[in-house]
Amino acid sequence: MKTIDELNLDGKKALVRVDFNVPLNDQMEITDDTRIQAALPTIEAILEKGGSVILMSHLGRPKGEENDSFSLRHIVDHLSDEIGIPVMFASDCIGAEAYELAEELMPGQVLLLENLRFYNEETSGDETFASRLAELGDVYVNDAFGTAHRAHASTAIIAKFFEGQKAFGYLMAAEIENVSKVLVEGKSPVCAVMGGAKVSSKIPIIKHLLDKVDHLIIGGGMTFTFIKALGGTIGNSLVEDDYLEMAKSLIEEMDTKGVQLHLPLDSLNANAFSNDADTSISDSKEIPDGLMGLDIGPKTIDVYTEVIRSSKTILMNGPIGVFEMDAFSSGTKQIVEAIAESTKKGAFSLVGGGDSVAAVKQFEMADEMSYVSTGGGAMLEYLEGKELPGIASILG
Ligand code: AMP
Repeated sequence: MKTIDELNLDGKKALVRVDFNVPLNDQMEITDDTRIQAALPTIEAILEKGGSVILMSHLGRPKGEENDSFSLRHIVDHLSDEIGIPVMFASDCIGAEAYELAEELMPGQVLLLENLRFYNEETSGDETFASRLAELGDVYVNDAFGTAHRAHASTAIIAKFFEGQKAFGYLMAAEIENVSKVLVEGKSPVCAVMGGAKVSSKIPIIKHLLDKVDHLIIGGGMTFTFIKALGGTIGNSLVEDDYLEMAKSLIEEMDTKGVQLHLPLDSLNANAFSNDADTSISDSKEIPDGLMGLDIGPKTIDVYTEVIRSSKTILMNGPIGVFEMDAFSSGTKQIVEAIAESTKKGAFSLVGGGDSVAAVKQFEMADEMSYVSTGGGAMLEYLEGKELPGIASILG
């Protein structure tokens, strides 16, 4: 894989696409700087190799218009503290000021450009806009895994202006390598834990995984479409009736491919979608009328954690219950704990996709996983087996 280690960066201006789309509060303070932290190794390495760094990113969805609430100037001080040198800022990502600052940039210095999405040309993948950005740097580095699934000007189109002078940053490289550790080199038994609300959004991933995994553990709201497809009674639980046939055909495909499907045996039910609801446990195929399954029950936890403990490779994508509410968080928590235990014993574990990442963070277990992906939508599309434009443009 072509990373910045293969580029000559000495005296070069590296134009680096990062994902600094960090959450800001009303005072425009960063409330979670995970994405900044994730980009630091690449920035620091370029500086150490004698280069200078021009950072470009989007922040929020300003929809092609300048808007101070989406200005990257709000992150300059924090970024400067983290890198340990004052970061310069250009109040427009293209234009005279940006070119002047880029021109004068010395090795060891860092320049941050204003939000790329103040221009619609960024998201439309405009080639002229990409070429104007390209003029700023000598080499192009993509380290924005979070937007790798978008064919935007700065994430993909721009790469064509840097033939032989483009590479992945360390974060992108890590994301790609860690997915490969599951989907390509995964040591058997390989187990995928799939959860979340809807089966419809996870079908492409499940299909892609069927050739790669030995065990497929299903939890979360998507459970009930499978249970209903198999003739069970699911009360008021979440279901997608349009997908019952699809669920049946997935089950058949798993059977043909020798994938062991694990569906919940019992269900923790509630009479309302609320943390204070009355709860009870039932067989997951016999959920009484008026009740909805919001977490897996104790028997299921035993079986699922046992499968996880005996797996050598584990992928977690989606929570197993409504983990945001204390009353329904136990299933997800115990699954995450079992993954941590397995990881400690030498298994490789990857947590990817928005809400499962939120869950491991909520349980303060992120450090116990082998790798926690930084890219929500990008990771989902990557796990579906799609070619991501941000990756393809560096490889091509
Ligand atoms: P997704 O974005 O599809 O991965 O769904 C994540 C959401 O699914 C989380 O907010 C969970 O609270 C929710 N979820 C998990 N289990 C259930 C369930 N049994 N019923 C309804 N929602 C659930």
